[in-house]
Parts: sequence; structure tokens; C-alpha cells
Amino acid sequence: MTDLTRRSLLALGAGAAALASTNPAFALTPAPRALSFHNLHTGESFKGAYWENGQYVPDSLVEIRKVLRDFRTGDEHMIDTKLLDLLTAMHRRLDTSEPFQVISGYRSPKSNAMLREKGSGVATHSYHMRGMAIDIRVAGRRTSSIQRLALGLQRGGVGYYPASDFVHVDVGPVRTWKTV
Ligand SMILES: [Zn+2]
Repeated sequence: MTDLTRRSLLALGAGAAALASTNPAFALTPAPRALSFHNLHTGESFKGAYWENGQYVPDSLVEIRKVLRDFRTGDEHMIDTKLLDLLTAMHRRLDTSEPFQVISGYRSPKSNAMLREKGSGVATHSYHMRGMAIDIRVAGRRTSSIQRLALGLQRGGVGYYPASDFVHVDVGPVRTWKTV
């Protein structure tokens, strides 16, 4: 090895070390998990990290449960963090900066019963009533693409509603359905 090559390698090593100290992607702490929601019924939004430095951020979870509340009754319910992690995985794969547009998040027993009476094809024990389900779309992305991506993750239920142009995802058992 020539002196020149040795010097080049040493320079490269120093460069990599500098990169590791300044670039978060090289750091030991995992990157924060962030989400953005826009509730189409209330016009309210959330944007921010809900998991940081190895733990969920309580203030963010409180804000998220407010934005995803039952818009009919105003009732709030804690949103399952597994659902948030699923949405994070989906959003990364969608490769967009657009927020999730929320058609339905938490649904109170009262709203669920009302929707059932109207024959809206709502389940008796919907995962929406446990803060484990959400109906979404994303601007600039086809709902069929969102459905395919969610199915590929195999983390829960995926319902496709092409006529209403949204996808239901939940963190219940893995299953799938489609309405017309
Ligand atoms: Zn749903």
C-alpha cells in the first residue's frame, strides 16, 4: 500500500466518523416516529412525533385522540399505538409528505349503533369502537395502492371502499374485505 492510499483511507475513516456524529441516520438512537392527520369532518389536524427516544410521547397521544375523536358525539378514546405504528409504516412506503385524511377514527357505541340502524354496513363490534381502526385516504395516492400496501404489511384488517374512496385499516386479526 502506498503512503498516498493509506492517507486516503485514513481521511475516509475520519469522514465516516464525522458523518456518524452529525447525521441522525447513523446515530444509535432510532429516528422519531411522526404522523400527520387531517380530519375531514372537523378540519382539525395533527402533525408531529408521537414516539421519541424510545418511548411514546404522552402529549402527542392526547392530541391524536382529540383529532381522531368521534365527530358525531365528541367522545374521545385512546388510539392504540399499534395502529399509529402501522400508519407510520404505511406512510413511509407511500413516500409522500401529505397527511392521512381521516374519514373515521374513533367511533362511540352510540354512533356505531346509529350507523347500524341506517344500514351502513357497520360491524356490531367494530374496531373503531376500541380505537384500533381508522378510515383514510391520502391526496395524490390511489386508494387501491393504499389498500395493496396495507395488505402487504399483514398487520390487521384491511377494508377497501372504492365507491367512497377510502381504505379501512385496523390492528385486529389479519383479514380483508371489499365493498362495491
Ligand atoms: Zn372503518
